[in-house]
Amino acid sequence: MQSVRAYIGIGSNLDHPVAQVQHAFQALNDLPSSAGVVRSPLYCTAPVGGPPGQPDYINAVAALDTMLTPDDLLNALQALETAQGRVRAVRWGTRTLDLDVLLYGQMTRTDPWLTLPHPRLHQRAFVLHPLHDIAPLLTIPGRGMLAELLASCPPQAIARLEQLSALNF
Ligand code: ATP
Ligand code: CA
Ligand code: CA
Repeated sequence: MQSVRAYIGIGSNLDHPVAQVQHAFQALNDLPSSAGVVRSPLYCTAPVGGPPGQPDYINAVAALDTMLTPDDLLNALQALETAQGRVRAVRWGTRTLDLDVLLYGQMTRTDPWLTLPHPRLHQRAFVLHPLHDIAPLLTIPGRGMLAELLASCPPQAIARLEQLSALNF
């Protein structure tokens, strides 16, 4: 089986978020039948949705070449979230680690367990900026060119914390 390029959205706003995200890069690279290709710089972003008063998030995106099926990939990501102390309580509430499958190649599906592309990625500056840093020419199936989505997405307080050159896993 040929590998598929998947893009994983990473977020944390609890218990040393920078360290959580850096640990997640390593854990993604260590997934079975998968290899990390490139990671985005880290971003500090204001919370979007969810309960008021949450701390800021650290966000990033990782590109992964994987031979896991999309369902096995999501299962593996949820296991990594649990291993890093994720507790599922309030929707969009604080979390040590959130791993979303943004894209799995050009696959589209609308299953609630796994919707592809991620159903809200095109509206989120905290996803579109880091994704654009590592894959500026991407087209999002059903949504259009990444660069155009970025230009038209709702404004959000967001700050890049690293240079674009610091992209190795
Ligand atoms: P959002 O999906 O708006 O970013 P969230 O990441 O906080 O919110 P979770 O509680 O982490 O939401 O996930 C809720 C459910 O979403 C998961 O149990 C999973 O089955 C489902 N889901 C659907 N599509 C995806 C996807 N592309 N990536 C990750 N989870 C997905
Ligand atoms: Ca999410
Ligand atoms: Ca999630």
